[in-house]
Amino acid sequence: MKPKIRTLTHDHIDGSAALVNSIEMLYRMARQPFPFPSTDAWRAYFKDPHVNIVAKFATVTSVLQSAEALEYAADDYVALRALEGYAIIESKFAPQYHTDGGLTMKQVVSVMCNALWRYGSRYGVRVMPHVCIGRETSPEVGMEIAKIVMEYDGDVVLDLACDEGGHPPEKHLPAFKLTFDTRVMRDCHAGEWVASDPPETYRQRLMQNLRTAIRDLRCNGVSHAIPLIDDPELIREVVDKGIRVSGCPLSNLTCGSIKDVRELGIDRLIDAGVRYTLNADDDLFLPPMDEVLAACDEAYDFSQAQCAELEASSENEPFLIRKY
Ligand SMILES: [Zn+2]
Repeated sequence: MKPKIRTLTHDHIDGSAALVNSIEMLYRMARQPFPFPSTDAWRAYFKDPHVNIVAKFATVTSVLQSAEALEYAADDYVALRALEGYAIIESKFAPQYHTDGGLTMKQVVSVMCNALWRYGSRYGVRVMPHVCIGRETSPEVGMEIAKIVMEYDGDVVLDLACDEGGHPPEKHLPAFKLTFDTRVMRDCHAGEWVASDPPETYRQRLMQNLRTAIRDLRCNGVSHAIPLIDDPELIREVVDKGIRVSGCPLSNLTCGSIKDVRELGIDRLIDAGVRYTLNADDDLFLPPMDEVLAACDEAYDFSQAQCAELEASSENEPFLIRKY
């Protein structure tokens, strides 16, 4: 059976389907010509696996460079999630990508978080912002982002996103260390995205990053965690520490990181006591939640108890949300 998911724990604002409604207006606000014949053509470009991911996201972030644009995007984003029936959303953005128009990273975080909370209360959705370090940046910029997050004293989460193979989690250990023994929760994309070559060490390299995120970066949550099912000791550690795993099975499948959703062993992780959630990741160009739930239903045929665990996992601590 399918779980009833009313929480998204892994949702990128700049990769959300809400942009279908807002992208042309964002170009007008930025006084830039929309470089595609239509919104459909732009979305098709996003879905094309041969186009570089950085180039794809640049078509969005290039027009999210002012406070007005960030507010506008936040409004459409929260409104869509409310319309879809979500009660809680954990929403990711990386301030370093929004400073070309003169905003500082601190201003970006302030504008975006306050807009998310304001529209959240207007539309009846509780929002927990995840402020991401785009991991290609320097450890110093990473630390700067962590310090901004710390000013919110636990009301926003620190996250690490993007190219994991080129920039493994330990690169930003200095940033994560700053938040140890504070109220800041830490999440991390880990065990998601490394080079496929050499294939014989592919899974080990994913696993190494996952271990680093859990043991060295002391993450309260990890996202993707593709190889977790391979290591019973690490599974026990994840359960004992109450670490939440935000899974994005169709993101992994579409991006070619797995060949079958069953490789993730989601049913066995739940049965082992892992706090596991299901997410789409970037529903602008990846399969949306209804397809995620249908694919998981087909692959795992979750029991009632497993569905109950999936539903409860997204709404419990450690991501206890004070602001919303
Ligand atoms: Zn993600």
